[in-house]
Amino acid sequence: MKTAITVPLLDLKGQYNALREEIKKVIDEVCDSQYFILGPHVQKLEEQIAAYCGTGYGIGVSSGTDALLLALMALDIGSGDEVITSPYTFFATGGAVARCGARPVYCDIDPTTYNLSPVAVEATIAKQYEFTKGRLINKKTGGIAKVLLPVHLYGQVADMDPLMGIAAKYNLNVIEDAAQAIGSSYNDGRRAGSFGDVGCFSFFPSKNLGAFGDGGMCVCNDEVLAERLRIMRVHGGEPKYFHSVIGGNFRLDALQAAVLQIKLKHLDDWTAARQKNAAFYNIAFANAGLADKVSTPVALQGYRHIYNQYVIRVQQRDELRTYLTERNIGTEIYYPVPLHMQQCFSYLGYAPDDCPESRLAGEQTLALPIYPELTEQQLAYVVETVGKFYKS
Ligand SMILES: *Cc1c(COP(=O)(O)O)cnc(C)c1O
Repeated sequence: MKTAITVPLLDLKGQYNALREEIKKVIDEVCDSQYFILGPHVQKLEEQIAAYCGTGYGIGVSSGTDALLLALMALDIGSGDEVITSPYTFFATGGAVARCGARPVYCDIDPTTYNLSPVAVEATIAKQYEFTKGRLINKKTGGIAKVLLPVHLYGQVADMDPLMGIAAKYNLNVIEDAAQAIGSSYNDGRRAGSFGDVGCFSFFPSKNLGAFGDGGMCVCNDEVLAERLRIMRVHGGEPKYFHSVIGGNFRLDALQAAVLQIKLKHLDDWTAARQKNAAFYNIAFANAGLADKVSTPVALQGYRHIYNQYVIRVQQRDELRTYLTERNIGTEIYYPVPLHMQQCFSYLGYAPDDCPESRLAGEQTLALPIYPELTEQQLAYVVETVGKFYKS
């Protein structure tokens, strides 16, 4: 079937075209300065992102993945330590934990928001751990749980009040994977990245604030920890060539920072456009009478959902996806295999139904195009085509 309308999952060209002249100018400035690594553009961006998130400090890093790894390293997480996190996330969340030598402990998600469930975390702790002398010890592995690592998936903050309560009760540090959630906020208005010890952001091009390559940021409120993150970002050398700790090369470069500074000015407008698109979908799906086939995403009352993804839960997901692809509508599955079921984590010994909601979400969800520049005609075509699939 041929049709004139195409709806890619993401198309960044419109955004670039609108900012082309401004961006070319700052790229020229950086080239003229020949100052490429860290430097004034990075420092300025760090201040702006920290302010945007309501935190005291920002530390620009090479990617969202490196933000997570650096945060874990700065908190001294390693062999014998355990990190309680969600299995329903991009691989980097669990990958960073394993790479620093710690053991990921996967707890299930809330089926409505897809975020780490505080109830599941409490249940896992009650079942698998013993809290003695201020330490949360795994009865089977002997490891000590040191970090709680919630992910603010798709652009909505996890249920942080109970999660922070659990962390306080069991003496856990908190690292937030806020890669998909820059500017999203909780019901008290506090922003993603500002709750825990360290908030981790990604500037991967498909994120709401995307660079022209890889980039990321750690944010935090503790001056000492901020300094430690900054030092470990450059191999732990302080002063240069004198190493009291082992860090890595986690630096952000000036070209990315310069581009991001320009884009940051537009982020709230883009977020508003994403929210408008989500509202359009919600109403159009409701009017299409598909309630028994399609569940639209739930933005909790009082939260600011920034819709990095608009993810529906559907019947016959794979058939629907093929049908949409054939009609020029881009979709994606985030994520088909939850981390507790990944082959590389088989040594952890999880069965698929140890986190049943994560397994189900991996089987039933589908991300639809939501980027700001979509037209109402494109959005309507998506809903109409989904409707046709279920009527055919
Ligand atoms: C994108 C993403 C990351 C990793 O960010 P990169 O910049 O691609 O390294 C980590 N966690 C989540 C949830 C993400 O979506």
